[in-house]
Amino acid sequence: MRSTLHGLGDLIAYLPYELGFRPTDSLVVVGLDDDRIRVVARLDLGDADDLAQGIHRIGSVFAQAGVREALCCVFVDTDPAPTVVPTRLLDLAGDLLRAHDVDAAHLLVTRSGSWWAHRCGCGHCPRRPAAVPDRDRVDAVVESVLDGIAPHASRAELRASLRECRTELAQVIGDAPVTDRPMPSAAVTAAMWEILHGTRPIHEMPVPVLASLSRAMANRSTRDEVFGWLAPGLPGVGVSGSDSPPGMPGAFDARAVRARLVQWLHCLPDRLRPPVLTLIAGSAWSSGSGALAAVAVEQALQIDPGYRLARLLGHAVELGARPRRCA
Ligand SMILES: [Zn+2]
Repeated sequence: MRSTLHGLGDLIAYLPYELGFRPTDSLVVVGLDDDRIRVVARLDLGDADDLAQGIHRIGSVFAQAGVREALCCVFVDTDPAPTVVPTRLLDLAGDLLRAHDVDAAHLLVTRSGSWWAHRCGCGHCPRRPAAVPDRDRVDAVVESVLDGIAPHASRAELRASLRECRTELAQVIGDAPVTDRPMPSAAVTAAMWEILHGTRPIHEMPVPVLASLSRAMANRSTRDEVFGWLAPGLPGVGVSGSDSPPGMPGAFDARAVRARLVQWLHCLPDRLRPPVLTLIAGSAWSSGSGALAAVAVEQALQIDPGYRLARLLGHAVELGARPRRCA
């Protein structure tokens, strides 16, 4: 996101674009750094004990990551609308975060296209339901739409979007003859450049290139090198080689890159998918899209339950936070 959000109503309108889907019956905790969104975590409104544990974990991870300011917003959708529970939950969230030295100055409620502040730290937020700003009037939303980014209606839809497959092409790539020689490093770099930053759709890339590159990702050091470009500095994952390869800019539009990675995924049969799903998860997680990261990890582990990098990432993603901001 490059645009500035003007006020918390804008932020609420923008959150689905940051999460990748519209949160429903959720508690969303936004970690802030100098008034910028640094991390977004989401919990289902369900069992009170689970929620308390979830908030506790979020507070712990935020504190470890040096996030000291947060904002909590309850999205209430299901009827009948609970009147007391959201505010009680928000108070609990504020207290649990405070126990980790994370200050939640704003506790907000969103329902039926309106929002209001249960607690306001700035003195300017509405205390009674006010309309969430029209998406067309929020610069950051318009920017996302122009970038071709639309939030999915639900987490289930996000899952389904990753499962899509160009079946015929995936079969051809899966059946492509295997050569004994590993793909040379320069060829991996060139092909990855095309995948990440090219202009032609991935499914129009030459099949031998896609087949070789997709197989090269089964090699741990090759995959880790690419992972390092996409998700630099993930602690606990033990990835080295985070230097950008020659000619690859250090800072790129993470969402545009992820859209290309998802296109690549759609060209692959299941057995070649775990490394690419893990790259998507790493990229998503390091730039704050925890929901996509969780879904990608989940699918990698469904295909290969022992896939180590996915398990490590899954553990980190479960905590609901990323360790650092990537531009
Ligand atoms: Zn306020």
